[in-house]
Parts: sequence; C-alpha cells; structure tokens
Amino acid sequence: MDRQQEFVLRTLEERDIRFVRLWFTDVLGYLKSVAVAPAELEGAFSEGIGFDGSAIEGFARVYESDMVAKPDPSTFQVLPWESADGGHYSARMFCDIAMPDGSPSWADPRHVLRRTLSRASEAGFTCYVHPEIEFFLLRELNDDGREPVPADNGGFFDQASHDTAPHFRRHAIEALEAMGISVEFSHHEGAPGQQEIDLRYADALTMADNVMTFRYVVKEVAITQGVRASFMPKPFTHQPGSGMHTHVSLFEGDRNAFYDAEDPYELSATGKAFVAGLLRHAREITGVTNQFVNSYKRLIVGGEAPTAVCWGHANRSALVRVPMYSPGKASSRRVEVRSLDSACNPYLAYAVIIAAGLKGVQEGYELPPAAEDDVWSLTEAERRAAGYASLPQNLGEALREMEHSELLAETLGEHVYEFFLRNKRSEWDAYRSKVTPYELSTYLPVL
Ligand code: GLU
Ligand code: MG
Ligand code: MG
Repeated sequence: MDRQQEFVLRTLEERDIRFVRLWFTDVLGYLKSVAVAPAELEGAFSEGIGFDGSAIEGFARVYESDMVAKPDPSTFQVLPWESADGGHYSARMFCDIAMPDGSPSWADPRHVLRRTLSRASEAGFTCYVHPEIEFFLLRELNDDGREPVPADNGGFFDQASHDTAPHFRRHAIEALEAMGISVEFSHHEGAPGQQEIDLRYADALTMADNVMTFRYVVKEVAITQGVRASFMPKPFTHQPGSGMHTHVSLFEGDRNAFYDAEDPYELSATGKAFVAGLLRHAREITGVTNQFVNSYKRLIVGGEAPTAVCWGHANRSALVRVPMYSPGKASSRRVEVRSLDSACNPYLAYAVIIAAGLKGVQEGYELPPAAEDDVWSLTEAERRAAGYASLPQNLGEALREMEHSELLAETLGEHVYEFFLRNKRSEWDAYRSKVTPYELSTYLPVL
C-alpha cells in the first residue's frame, strides 16, 4: 500500500467515517457514486470495486459489461457536512475505471482526459485551467415546462443584503474550500438568480474533478438555503445563459509557454498557435463543449456568449479572448475559451479544447488577425466577409461537424466518439420532432 492509501485509511479511522463514496462520471457528465464501508477500501485500492458497466450511460455494451472502479487516493476528501443520522461524516474519492484485466476503460471520461494530457506532456507541456462557473439559483426546479422563478432579483456584481445569494455564496465557498477547492472570486452575474464562482487554477485533471465536485456541492448547499441550483445552459429566454469560460495555459516546467513580453498581447508563438488550433477546430469541438439542445439557445447574439469563431483582446463576443488583467506577469498569461457551458462534461470538454490547441502548436497553425470590432453588431454577411465562421447554431449542426472530425475521433477514442454521436443524435431527433409551445402559440391562431 502506498503512503496516500495509508493516509486515507488512517483518516477514515481517526474521523470515524462510516461511508466512502467512490465517484466517477459517465460519458454525458453525470456524477455516479457507489458507497463502500471503510473496511472494503483496502480491497478497493488493490483490486477495485466491480460493477455492471452496462447500466452506466456510455460505458459498455452489454456483453462486456464487467467494469472495475479504482479509487484514486490523491482525490480523497471528507465531505463538509454530517450525514442525516447525525454526527458522522462521509468522504469521497474519484475513481479511474478499468476493465477486468486491469487496462483502463476506453469509456471513462477521466481516461480520455488523462490520455490527452499525456500527449501534451510528451510534447513537454503541463496544462493548467481555471473555470468561471455560472449557474442559477431558483426557487424550485419545476419540470412541467413553466419558466422557473429566480431566487433573487440581483444583477451583475450586486451586493443585496436581503437576498439568498451572498449567504449562499459564503456557504458554498466554505464547503468548497473545506474540500480543497480554492475559490478565486465570486459574484452575482447579470441575470436575476444568476451566480458566478471562479476557481483558482489547477492542472486540467484536478480541475475536471473539481468541477464535478463543485456542481454537487453547489446543489447541496442550495438545498440547505431553501433554493435550488441549476447548471442548465439557458433556462430563461430573455436572460443570458450560464457559461463556463475556461482559461487555459501551458507550462514547460516552471515557464509559462504562452508568455512573451515582447508581443503586444504578451502571447508567445506557442500561445498564438494554440489559439489558432482552437479556432480552426472550433466548429467540430462544439458538440462536446456545448452538448445539449439547450446549449445552443445560449450561443446567440447578445448575452455575452460567443457566436463567431474569432479571437480578440477585450472582445467579449469572440470565441477566444486574451485577457490583459495583469500585464507583465508571465505566470498569468492565458487564453480564455468562452464557448463552454456549465453543463458540459468537464473531462471531455477539457480534452477537446486542449487537443485542438495542441494540434495548432504541433502543426504550426497561423493565427488570423484579432477581431476588435464587436462581432455581435455585424450581420451574418459582414461576418462572412470578415472571414469569421459561425459556431454551430444547433445541436444537429454541431453533430454534423463532429461526424467528420478526425481530431474528435482520435481525442475521444472510438468508443466514446461513437456513443456520444449516437446518444446526441437521438437527443436531437427527439427534440426536432417535437411541436413546441412556440409553434402552437404562433401558428395555431393564424393558420
Ligand atoms: N453569461 C455569459 C455567457 O453565457 C457570460 C457573461 C460574462 O462575460 O461573464 O457566456
Ligand atoms: Mg461571468
Ligand atoms: Mg469570462
């Protein structure tokens, strides 16, 4: 047993922890959990915990369904609240999923990201990311098609003392910090009920785990505050959606490979080629960064979400932004990818943005000039004339792009790629064949 595993067993005993939740993520980004008693853990470390993979979205075909969850002791954390029976705490660890012969499962999103990161590391890079996670606090989660009621009436950066949000954010941040997730800052976002919490940067695998933990913690804390949290990309027709803008940088050892003091954007040749990769492959990776029918309701003009494939410096309508918050500070040079939404699978989304950027670096793609105009105000024709492609406008279009993408097939691996396309194709078909309230109220009275 290694030292980390020993530390886990010792902590369980010292803190009298009765349950350890073993967490993993299915292909669509839903958190899965199996609880084990501490006595089972030694075995789980050496052999893993067997389960029926065919019952998990995207994991296995029925005839090869035996899978094994192997807890990663470096992710051990005690959950910051007592169990309902009082007095006892439980803990969690993320798992890697293996086949019965011990080889990593090709269906495990964590493995997809690990594989991409090891390619980056063969090229000499460590990938750091930090997300700005937006979400809504709502009075309740009605599922009957009514528009939800936001939990407050605040706006951007508002500090209202009488509403739920500041208390909620304080409790949520305390819970996240107690689980080893550092919060950089938090504020009320633009729409009523909308919040943003930004996490301090970490390597991409740790951060993907953190995002999964974040969604769970935020939902739990919301319930304790008498409200509900939702990461749905666009719950309100007339309010902005919830993005998960993601800042990325590559380091070579201690050196930020994106920094160049001489460049007007302080962006190195590596940084530029990375952005060029993000742009060139933008349309084919959008199905993963924006994976739901609803994701595309957010990617519209206005609302500060990107619609055009271009980059800029201050330009919030661009897909990629090179922020200049701390000029001259090499360690903070990074690029911000603005398409991701808060409902993506963070393992797969990080894998595809890093793969697209790295491809640009490895193939030496040339970066087109920055877009300094407000792309929102351009018509479709003006955009085309300026050479900006549009992001896919709906899930169907995103899937068509994805179907022809070698980069995606290679990055996700054949199994995840095919499952993802099949699953999303059926989501799109179900949606597009549905007659909506919009159509009924628009056409029925006049046609
Ligand atoms: N909510 C916006 C989006 O959907 C982002 C607002 C901001 O710039 O933080 O991307
Ligand atoms: Mg924001
Ligand atoms: Mg941002």
